[in-house]
Amino acid sequence: MKSVKHNGEIRIGVYICHCGTNIAGKVKIEEVVKYAQNLPNVIVARDYKYMCSDPGQDLIKKDIKELKLNRIVVASCSPHLHEHTFRKAAEEAGLNPFYFQMANIREHVSWVTKDSKEATEKAKAMVKAAVYRVVFHEALEKKKEKINPDVLIIGGGIAGITAALTIADAGKKVYLVEREPSIGGHMAKFDKTFPTLDCASCILTPKMTAVKDHPNITLLTYSEVENVDGYVGNFKVKIRKKPRYVDIEKCVGCYECIKNCVYKEGKFPNEFDEGLSKRKPIYIPFPQAVPLAAIIDPATCIQFLSGKCKKACQEACERGAIDFNMREEIIEVEVGAIIVATGFKIFDPSQIPQYGYGRYPNVYTSLEVERLVNSSGPTGGEIILRDGRTPKSVGIVHCVGSRDKNYNIWCSRVCCMYSLKLAHLIKERTGAEVYNFYIDMRTPGKGYEEFYLKLMEEGVHFIRGKVAEVTDWAITPEEEGKLIIRVEDTLIGVVRRIPVDMVILSVGLTPQPDADEVRRLLNISCSKEGWFLERHPKLAPVSTFTDGVFIAGACQGPKDIPDTVAQAEAAAAEALALIDKSEITLEPNTAFIDEEKCSGCHVCIALCPYSAISFNEEKKIAHINEALCKGCGVCVAACPSKAAQQRLFLDEQIYAEIEGALV
Ligand SMILES: Cc1cc2nc3c(=O)[nH]c(=O)nc-3n(C[C@H](O)[C@H](O)[C@H](O)COP(=O)(O)OP(=O)(O)OC[C@H]3O[C@@H](n4cnc5c(N)ncnc54)[C@H](O)[C@@H]3O)c2cc1C
Ligand code: SF4
Ligand code: SF4
Repeated sequence: MKSVKHNGEIRIGVYICHCGTNIAGKVKIEEVVKYAQNLPNVIVARDYKYMCSDPGQDLIKKDIKELKLNRIVVASCSPHLHEHTFRKAAEEAGLNPFYFQMANIREHVSWVTKDSKEATEKAKAMVKAAVYRVVFHEALEKKKEKINPDVLIIGGGIAGITAALTIADAGKKVYLVEREPSIGGHMAKFDKTFPTLDCASCILTPKMTAVKDHPNITLLTYSEVENVDGYVGNFKVKIRKKPRYVDIEKCVGCYECIKNCVYKEGKFPNEFDEGLSKRKPIYIPFPQAVPLAAIIDPATCIQFLSGKCKKACQEACERGAIDFNMREEIIEVEVGAIIVATGFKIFDPSQIPQYGYGRYPNVYTSLEVERLVNSSGPTGGEIILRDGRTPKSVGIVHCVGSRDKNYNIWCSRVCCMYSLKLAHLIKERTGAEVYNFYIDMRTPGKGYEEFYLKLMEEGVHFIRGKVAEVTDWAITPEEEGKLIIRVEDTLIGVVRRIPVDMVILSVGLTPQPDADEVRRLLNISCSKEGWFLERHPKLAPVSTFTDGVFIAGACQGPKDIPDTVAQAEAAAAEALALIDKSEITLEPNTAFIDEEKCSGCHVCIALCPYSAISFNEEKKIAHINEALCKGCGVCVAACPSKAAQQRLFLDEQIYAEIEGALV
């Protein structure tokens, strides 16, 4: 072994764990203990059935104190499981926790090596490597950073609203950023929600108003997050507030401006009604909008297009709320935690031309029908076709774009249930014959299967089979003037043609198209489909790989309202747990730059996946922000000058480990 540069005697204790029979069933523990006893600097080597148990840890603590040990090696399971346990035990006995090394002789040895002799030899080599390495360990200090108690929430659907209210009610300040002119998300468009068929706005509107009135919530609608700097506990966020040309502080939503607009009728597609109604250039998105304020769309307003409007809206507004000179604003806020709740988009069914969406006027998306059945929607809740007729027969096609390797492979989780909901509402209001075309019926929620059974009792037809085509090519007199759904009924093994007046495509849920931009902004990850990735699907479902950034709702994957609300509350609880600590401890095994050696080549800056490295223009060298560094080692491996190094992975520590494993 190379000479040790520090002063003082090295006194190592080695502890070999049996892990029941997990390790001892393969590795000859006694042999490894004897071998360890004779390694340089080892004062004591012991074995125990379960080192991680309290008696196992006490053994280490006692030896540290009585035998004056100053280095500890534990050969047991994965550091992922118990590195923290043993470091803590060392610390409790008065030793710096980083004078510790763990050898994984379970996952790396006993579980993967067939022969007992070979496994024992491998275990010896790993123990020796750890003993050689630990000699070069240094005492490291954990730094503490203050946490800003304010929270930013991106997205004002039911997920963002729920999280905002939970955090604000706990006494913390919240910034809620929504890019549309009103909060509410998709839920604001629904009339009823499954399976209880309760009125969506009766649940949602009070929450939307509570957000607006809450003293701890700053609501920023028609705004988007532009930039995020900093790290857990100390994020600096720039928010772009788009001009709505109406001052929301002055506007009371009286509609006078809209009534007086030079356009006598609405002329442009109303986005909130999925284009099923028309709006004017000045409009209020929907009657329950929060904030309840008008907005001018410069792309359709004559004043913005030609500068030659008589500005009747401005004249009509007694409160002087309309301001054509309003400009974009950049607002800067500082927060300790961020919750992403940006939701989903629906699948665009024109990608499946055989279903006729965009070609046949009576083929609708489910979201369009949500607006049709809504009492405050374009038809006041009356279910009528584009030509004003009431449909006598309706076909609902499930899984449009979902569970299909040509489009989206995943199940969108809510489409079966909302198809049942729409089937019920249509039957109830029009008495039409309703056909559901499904591949599998998926109703795995509280009261969901019961809802399905109720629909069957109501006389809704269910046909199992993937719809091949929607066509208007009639081959019998009954099919004339109808849309014909061609499907193989797999329960009776017959290809059928079902003529209907209206087709509803139950479109699946897809990630937001700008999910990748949001991912980059926050340094979080997306699954290959584009849903934001949780840190662990079971154990950390609302955390991300970036500390202090949490996810909630359908931006993480398709989910219904109950699951969205539960997850939003979980994200709020995680954010509160973080900021209530008031300070965080940063792990010290981060990278650092040896200023003498850095040539300022920028290689590490581009490679760091956590944007932890910046360039110090004054010194012309790289600088690592230790609060952002996750210790992945990419910069260390890439640095051509060996200037980037990492604590606990210094060259001498790694070389000593290799030497131990080889000789
Ligand atoms: C047709 C249909 C019917 C449904 N019916 C039901 C039902 O009856 N019952 C039920 O339980 N579930 C139903 N669902 C599912 C329900 O819509 C979702 O569970 C719910 O909307 C998820 O809420 P969310 O807040 O996560 O997302 P969303 O409702 O999508 O809200 C996300 C919000 O974030 C905003 N946003 C997005 N990106 C940004 C950004 N970059 N910056 C700022 N803001 C941003 C959006 O504008 C939006 O306001 C239905 C879904 C569909 C498609
Ligand atoms: S801008 Fe003025 S006129 Fe228009 S809704 Fe608001 S208060 Fe009424
Ligand atoms: S170790 Fe990884 S996270 Fe840390 S600065 Fe280097 S590249 Fe970035």
